[in-house]
Amino acid sequence: MAQQGGAVFEGALTDEERLVRDTVRDFAEREIAPGAAERDETEHYERRLFDGLAGLGLTGAPFPESIGGGGLPYRTWALVMEELGAVDMAMAVSLSVHVLSQSPVARWGTPDQHERWLAPMVRGVRMGAFALTEPGAGSDAAGIRLRATRVGPADAPTAYRLDGTKIWISNAPEADNYLVFATLDPEAGPSAITAFLVEKGTPGFEFGRKERKLGIRANPASELVFHGAEVPAANRLGGEGDGYRIALSSLGEGRISIAAACTGIARAALEAAARYVSDRRAFGGPLTNQQGVRFMLAEMAQRVAIARAMTRAAAGAKDRGEPIAEASSLAKWTASDAAMSVASDAVQLFGAAGYSRENPVERYLRDAKGAQIYEGTNQIHRLIVAEQLLRGLDLG
Ligand SMILES: Cc1cc2nc3c(=O)[nH]c(=O)nc-3n(C[C@H](O)[C@H](O)[C@H](O)COP(=O)(O)OP(=O)(O)OC[C@H]3O[C@@H](n4cnc5c(N)ncnc54)[C@H](O)[C@@H]3O)c2cc1C
Repeated sequence: MAQQGGAVFEGALTDEERLVRDTVRDFAEREIAPGAAERDETEHYERRLFDGLAGLGLTGAPFPESIGGGGLPYRTWALVMEELGAVDMAMAVSLSVHVLSQSPVARWGTPDQHERWLAPMVRGVRMGAFALTEPGAGSDAAGIRLRATRVGPADAPTAYRLDGTKIWISNAPEADNYLVFATLDPEAGPSAITAFLVEKGTPGFEFGRKERKLGIRANPASELVFHGAEVPAANRLGGEGDGYRIALSSLGEGRISIAAACTGIARAALEAAARYVSDRRAFGGPLTNQQGVRFMLAEMAQRVAIARAMTRAAAGAKDRGEPIAEASSLAKWTASDAAMSVASDAVQLFGAAGYSRENPVERYLRDAKGAQIYEGTNQIHRLIVAEQLLRGLDLG
């Protein structure tokens, strides 16, 4: 079914933005949309689709050309993510996490790490995952306990041994390259957190329980289990103790991606609902004759437009090199709430048909819920926005 992104106010796009959006929309509708419901039902991830995104140059699109990326501005990247979110949030999250796992390497990596680790990820030959969350540390990420122990001299270790568990790691076990955050001292807080590049197949690194999810069921997520997995010192990203800053430094960008994908969910839910109530007849005519139904559609359109505007504002700030902590939190929180409420209204407007797995709107609802939780829960985004607000006040 054709997605009409222009159905809701979209603002002006440049020729390049339009070209990228239309190219991605074409691929998304032709290749990704047709099997989305079945992949959700069977919890099946199709690597072929990731390879297709790589073929379009999307697996490294927002990174500078100097390190092999596509040099795509974030405003354009947001259009890419909206198109993917509109057809299959599971695939949108897969690409978003892949990019999120590369950003810190692009920023903090050595030339050797860029060549060895990043280059094949940018090309989409290897897929990435970002591993921060643990059974005892989610929102409170500084509380991670996955232990890194130095191997060799304390002042010049040759390697680090990892022990512990990560949970809810999207793209695992499909991914090849894992950005893993560990601590040299679980009692020391953020100052001991250190980032490591860990390859699938490293002895002592295994996959545990697969998460059984409400939504984005076609995107795998699983536990990572480390039993003395030895990682060469050349795979430490940044210095010892830089890990917390490294983790936080890329989350803003990831939040813009998720906000854009959520705008896509909201848009798809609105369009599906608008079509349904135009066709559905009751009380002597189409449901669109009912003003109450029209009001619902208008309010849904309003939420899509707000989500898109805030996402584009955050992406624009990123492109201009401005701080994005507040803008990206506002965008992610607003857009994921919009996706959730528009999808819920779409289910309502479909009536019983909306509650059926035969129609896509129940999937939009399930997929939207997760986005209020991952990439920082929406409560944490309120804290970030309040912090930024108070910091900006001149309290004399
Ligand atoms: C689908 C999915 C995919 C994910 N993918 C990844 C991934 O790829 N990599 C990764 O590392 N993690 C991933 N996660 C984990 C995700 O980042 C965490 O679930 C999230 O950070 C919240 O942590 P938690 O689940 O431990 O909840 P908790 O931190 O235990 O929070 C529980 C509740 O308390 C609220 N709360 C917590 N602290 C506060 C506070 N200070 N003030 C007010 N309210 C608060 C939270 O908002 C939440 O409602 C994923 C999660 C999901 C659902």
